[in-house]
Amino acid sequence: MIADNLKMVHEKIEAACKRSGRNPSEVTLLCVSKTKPLELIEECIKAGETSFGENYVQELCDKIQEEDNKDLNWHMIGHLQRNKVKYILGKTTLIHAVDSLRLAEQIEKECVKKGLEADILLEVNVAREESKFGFTVDNLLENLLEIAKFPHVHIKGLMTSAPYVTNPEENRKYFAQLKQISVDIEGKNIDNVTMSVLSMGMTNDYEIAVEEGATVVRVGTAIFGARNYDLEDRNGR
Ligand SMILES: *Cc1c(COP(=O)(O)O)cnc(C)c1O
Repeated sequence: MIADNLKMVHEKIEAACKRSGRNPSEVTLLCVSKTKPLELIEECIKAGETSFGENYVQELCDKIQEEDNKDLNWHMIGHLQRNKVKYILGKTTLIHAVDSLRLAEQIEKECVKKGLEADILLEVNVAREESKFGFTVDNLLENLLEIAKFPHVHIKGLMTSAPYVTNPEENRKYFAQLKQISVDIEGKNIDNVTMSVLSMGMTNDYEIAVEEGATVVRVGTAIFGARNYDLEDRNGR
C-alpha cells in the first residue's frame, strides 16, 4: 500500500515538473513520518526512499537510533525549541524551520561546542498567518544577514508551510512569492548563503508547489495515510 502511494506521489511530482518545464531530479520527496512507526518507514526504504522528515526531537532521535542506517537522510521539519538543539546536531541533514535569530544563535553555539556545522533553512510565514512561526517577508533579510555571520551555520534556502485550504490553487501565490524571494536573495551573493533549497508543499498542495519551484516537498498523509491526532494530543504535541 505504501509502495503504491509512493508511486502515485512520484508520478504527480513528475507530471507537475513536466507542466512547468522542470527536471524531476530537481525535486526531493521528503517522507514525513512523524507519529508513524518504523515498520512503515521500512516499507518506504524498501520502495527506494532515503529522506525522512520528523517534527518532534525525541521521536526523531529515537527513530535515528533504532533505524541505524547511514544511507538515510533525516530532516528536522518542525518548530525547534532552543533547549533541544543539542540533541539533533550531527544527526540531521537539514534543519528546515529556523524561525528566529536566537534559535540560529543557539545552533551556532552548540555547533562550536560539539565541533560541528549545520545546514539550515529559514522559515518564512509568507501567508502572514497569526498561528504560524517564521520570519515575515519584511524582516527576513535583516535576520538572514545576521545569521549568515555565524560561521558554523549555513543557510541553504527557505521553507514555508502554506495555509490549509480546500483549493490548493489558493496557495500558488505564496509559493510563487517564496520562490521570488529566494531568487532575489540569491542575486545578492551573500557570503555563507545559498538558495539551493526551497522546501514547500505538503500533501494538499505539493503539485502546485513543484510547479512554482519547490526543490523539497514534505509529504506525510499521501504516503502514510491520516495521522492519529488523539495520540499526538496525548503526547502534548
Ligand atoms: C506534518 C507536516 C508535513 C506533512 O503534512 P501532510 O499534510 O501530512 O503531507 C509537512 N511539513 C510540516 C512542517 C509538517 O509538520
